[in-house]
Formats: sequence, C-alpha cells, structure tokens
Amino acid sequence: MRVLVTGGAGYIGSHMVKRLLQSNIDVTILDDMSAGVVNEQHSAFLIRGRTDDVLLLKKIFTMARYDAVIHFAGSTSVSESVVSPEKYFYNNFTASLALLNTAVECGVKKFIFSSTAAIFGSPIYIPINESHPSSPINAYGESKLMLEWALKRFEVAHGVRWVSLRYFNAAGADPQGELGEQHEPETHLIPLALRATYSADQNLTIYGTDYDTPDGTCIRDYVHVCDLCEAHILSLDHLIRGGSSQSYNLGNGEGYSVLDIIRTVENVTGQLAHVKYGPRRPGDPSRLVADSSKIREELGWKPLYDLDAIISHAWAWECRGI
Ligand code: UDP
Repeated sequence: MRVLVTGGAGYIGSHMVKRLLQSNIDVTILDDMSAGVVNEQHSAFLIRGRTDDVLLLKKIFTMARYDAVIHFAGSTSVSESVVSPEKYFYNNFTASLALLNTAVECGVKKFIFSSTAAIFGSPIYIPINESHPSSPINAYGESKLMLEWALKRFEVAHGVRWVSLRYFNAAGADPQGELGEQHEPETHLIPLALRATYSADQNLTIYGTDYDTPDGTCIRDYVHVCDLCEAHILSLDHLIRGGSSQSYNLGNGEGYSVLDIIRTVENVTGQLAHVKYGPRRPGDPSRLVADSSKIREELGWKPLYDLDAIISHAWAWECRGI
C-alpha cells in the first residue's frame, strides 16, 4: 500500500509517517516546509512542494500508484486565523481543494482529512458528538468545514470516499522521544506552559479568567498525537476495506481547564510555572470536549494516553533542547 501524506514534516504528520512506516506502508511526504522540520529518518520520502501545485501533484500521482491521501498540510492557529483569514481560506480550503481535485483526476479516490473541533464553534451541548451543529466562530474552523463540504460533494459527483477526523486538542510527543511539537512561533498551551517552568523570561499568559467554567479559564479536551495517528490507521483500513465515508470526533472525552493544565505541568516538571493573566484570546470558545463514542464503536479506536502521559511525553521532548 502507498499513501501520500501532505504536511508529513509537521507535528502530527511526522508522527503519522513514523506510524505508517512501522506498518510497512509506502509513504511519500508532500510538505512545503513552511512549518515543517526536516527529519533525517523521513527525508528520503520528502518532496518539497505545496498542495496547490497541480503540475507537481500530477507528476507524483503518475509516477506511482497511490491508494490514499492523508491530508495534514494547512494552517493551524485559531488566533492567527482571526487576524489573517485570507491565509486560512487559501491554505486550508483553496489549496486543499486543488489537492482533492487533482487526486480525483488522477484516480486517487480515498481521502483522510485533518479536520477540527473548531468546526463546531461555541457548543450548545457537551460532550460534542458528530450530530452537533457546525457553526464555527473563526476562519480556521470555517476553512476546515468548507473542505468537509467539498468532500461530501466530491463523493456524490466523483465517487471519492473520505474520513474526516475532527481533532480536539492534539498534544504530547512520540513516547520514544524521536518526534514532538516544534511550532515557530509556538502558540499552544502545553509547550508554552512547560517552557514557563524553566525559563524565567517565558511567562505563560492565561487568556481569560472570566469564562463560564468552574475556574473561569477555557476547557479543552487534550488527545495524544499517537492516539490521533492510530485513528488514521483505523480510518485508512476502513476505507481500504470498502467502508463508507464518515466524520469522527477525536478526543479523550475529559475536559481540562487552562489552570488544570498548569497544575499538571507543575506536577510533571516539579517546578512552578511563571504565569500572568491576560484578556480573552479572540476566537476561543469556552469549552470543547469530545464525544468519541462513534469511532470507538465503529472502528474500535481506544486512546491509550491520559493527560499525565501527554504532558510527560511533551516534557521529555522539551527537555532535549534545555
Ligand atoms: N491558552 C492560554 N495561553 C496561551 C496559549 C493558550 O491561556 O499562551 C489557552 C487558550 O486560550 C485555549 C487553551 O489554552 O483556551 C488551548 O489553546 P491552544 O492554543 O493550545 O489550542 P486551541 O484550543 O486554540 O486549538
């Protein structure tokens, strides 16, 4: 079996490539390296390029027979999408549509898409299952939802079969310490909270303490990057066996506030985090917690890692650079 992994040099994509290679699946990585990191073990499979480069894609798809596309490439920061919506609509929708269209033209009709909990907006109930209405409150969520719509239409018109995986908060690192989160600049809570424990000049700003949550800070559902990768493996297997197109919500089903995360970070590192309090960050809903029973029941997905393991693995990765 052979798959094209777009964004395979990025955070979740690089863990996915490692996992696919462990299953002896042939991999080609397409990554423009705008946010990716060259990984020596993966460099043999890497083609530098963008998902809107139709000529390059046609070359890739005609040089070998691909069974599926796993599409991670895209822009991922909610806060950036508030100030630069054009970047999100282009990278996450327009460029993804070019990829989907070219894959279909070249006869590659299985597609696994990295979607997000941000498609739901401010939830009207918790935990969020797949029947929850989609009403995004930022361009990040909108741009991802637009590709979900395109996938549905492409199925009817062109016979594409797809799985859309709505990640809640991806976190953690490879348990063997080979891979981890390396965003530049880093905007995510767990790596920033870890850095705030050992670097006196890296205060963590808590964005908002007046949310309608028990401690006033936002609640999120953190899910280990390797558990997300297992969900992709199960989804790939499902599509290869002829399974139907599906959307699945991926989280542990446990909500943790920003203050819960800081407490766990302090327990894991044995050090106090330097924090300060700031206003709400535009675009942040107060609570996002997943109901993942659909993928557990239909594909047998069982996340292995709890919050302590997520933060311990992220800490081990962070320590490599200290
Ligand atoms: N957050 C925070 N300070 C930071 C970064 C994040 O208080 O420096 C909060 C943010 O408002 C959100 C939660 O932590 O409620 C998770 O944010 P992150 O950026 O990690 O992921 P997101 O939920 O935006 O995908």
